[in-house]
Amino acid sequence: MSESKDLLASVSDVSTETEFFSIIPDGYQKGKTRYCFVFGTVMSGLGKGIFSSCLAKLMQDKGLKVAPIKLEGYLNIDSGTLNPFRHGEVFVLDDGMECDMDLGTYERMLDQNLSRANFATSGQIFSSVLNKERHGDYLGRDVQMIPHITGEVKLKLRQLAVDTNADIIFVEIGGTVGDLENAYYIEAMRELAYEEGPNSSCFVALTYILEPQTLGEQKSKAAQLGIKQLMQCGVQPDIIACRAASPVTEKIRQKISLYSNVPFARVFSMPDSASIYTIPNMLRDSGIDFEVAKMLKIEDRLKLRQERKAWAQWCDFTDKIGAEKYDVTIAITGKYTTVRDSYASIINALEHAGIALSGNVEIKWIETTNINDENAAQHLKDVDGIIVPGGFGTRGAEGKIACIKYARENNIPYLGLCFGFQMAVIEFARNVCGLKNANSTEIIPDCPEPVIDILPEQKKIEGLGGNMRLGGRDIELKPETLASKIFAKADTVRMRFRHRYEVDPRYIDQLEKAGLVFSGKAPDHPIMQILEIPSHPFFMGTQAHPCLTSRPLRPQPMFVGLVAAAIQKRYENEKLPDPIKATQKVCI
Ligand code: GLN
Repeated sequence: MSESKDLLASVSDVSTETEFFSIIPDGYQKGKTRYCFVFGTVMSGLGKGIFSSCLAKLMQDKGLKVAPIKLEGYLNIDSGTLNPFRHGEVFVLDDGMECDMDLGTYERMLDQNLSRANFATSGQIFSSVLNKERHGDYLGRDVQMIPHITGEVKLKLRQLAVDTNADIIFVEIGGTVGDLENAYYIEAMRELAYEEGPNSSCFVALTYILEPQTLGEQKSKAAQLGIKQLMQCGVQPDIIACRAASPVTEKIRQKISLYSNVPFARVFSMPDSASIYTIPNMLRDSGIDFEVAKMLKIEDRLKLRQERKAWAQWCDFTDKIGAEKYDVTIAITGKYTTVRDSYASIINALEHAGIALSGNVEIKWIETTNINDENAAQHLKDVDGIIVPGGFGTRGAEGKIACIKYARENNIPYLGLCFGFQMAVIEFARNVCGLKNANSTEIIPDCPEPVIDILPEQKKIEGLGGNMRLGGRDIELKPETLASKIFAKADTVRMRFRHRYEVDPRYIDQLEKAGLVFSGKAPDHPIMQILEIPSHPFFMGTQAHPCLTSRPLRPQPMFVGLVAAAIQKRYENEKLPDPIKATQKVCI
């Protein structure tokens, strides 16, 4: 029996006699799943999630089963209560988990649906340990950061291994090495690697090479210190990826190698890239994927013939980047327009749709607080399409309604997402049905014409917290509508939701009689999910967030439809196929 096997055997026996505390989940097969840990040093914002998802993609292309997990340092149980302005968008998974936007990057890169098992926060880890303590699970032991909290982290990773049967789990540790709140995660990774034994794990440190303008040359000291800090935690990195504005020189890589005990061949240059979708190509050219496979002694599981096929498909996609034929401008109205991260999925969905249609989509950000019917044209006269995205609360709502009115009256392609769907209903009710006081009770609680009101099922649980309708739901499509056509005449489609309010069913008849078509409905409730105006070139709204499920090689049809309509509007003299046909061509 090897030493590490002894270790695992004894640690699964939880008693007061041992200092070890690692609960091994049922069915865990040691050695089946390998672990790749990704840490950030020097500063946050290096794109750890992007890097780790691209690396995971390269291993997935080689026929390996990969599972990502993001470990967040904050104490919130999920990301639902986080302000997107501070922390980027709240990404919603199919199972309803509200999580960090990095999970979106993983889903897009891997074309894989994730679940709550792929995301942990310190809040979850601590509350699970505290519940176990109250339950008497620690048999009289004093409950400590080590081994109990670290044990809980290891349990989460091993449980993911059992659930997914992955060849490699990619573990992204949030924040930066040196943050107090993430230190116990690093310790847990160190313990896990020790317990699993040699070649079970690969530690990848992402670092940053400074290039101060006044010096005009790259400097490695901050990177060296950051890596040393990781080594002080007992972690020797196996691979170092140097992020920088431009390619990292050989001299700098040599210095990093010397100071960190990492062979030169495993110190990589990772300069900035114009599109995240060309990063897998850059990583593949550098050979980092095979270094990871070597460190994990997993080469015998690689299926290189399968990789050739996956790679050819990917390159067909990336070859189109930068070779677009059409330029279009899409306006996005919203409150958080200063922080692009708050709309990451929408930006990605537009990029996917644009690339599929050979269109270069430029985004015009529009803050709606001061927009009204009189000045809307001034802001929107040069745009080819308009998106009103998800949102909460009163500020800017009237401006959004003014933008939608402009889009409807001037035949500008429109896509309303969640709040943008609700605002489109209000606009239509006011200006077409003549219900001048139409509004949402989210904006005016006692409004006389509440065309948008709180969902009855949400009303019951109001005040208890966690009261949104969340996650993936099926939508029934009405035949012969725009929605049905762009979704290849499917009977139902699945999208993700995050909302409290809906169209009040009492108004449906009146709205439909005036020309609004509800082309998507919930199968079991009268909840309206998609709307359209047939007399308009492309006017669509959805209560869902279709941006969350757009993937590079499978662009989301509503976004493709919007961009196709925008291209057609801009290039009206070129006799392009109509938006429905263009969408069908790339989405089916
Ligand atoms: N505030 C609206 C609701 O709760 C819309 C939510 C959203 O856009 N995500 O229903």
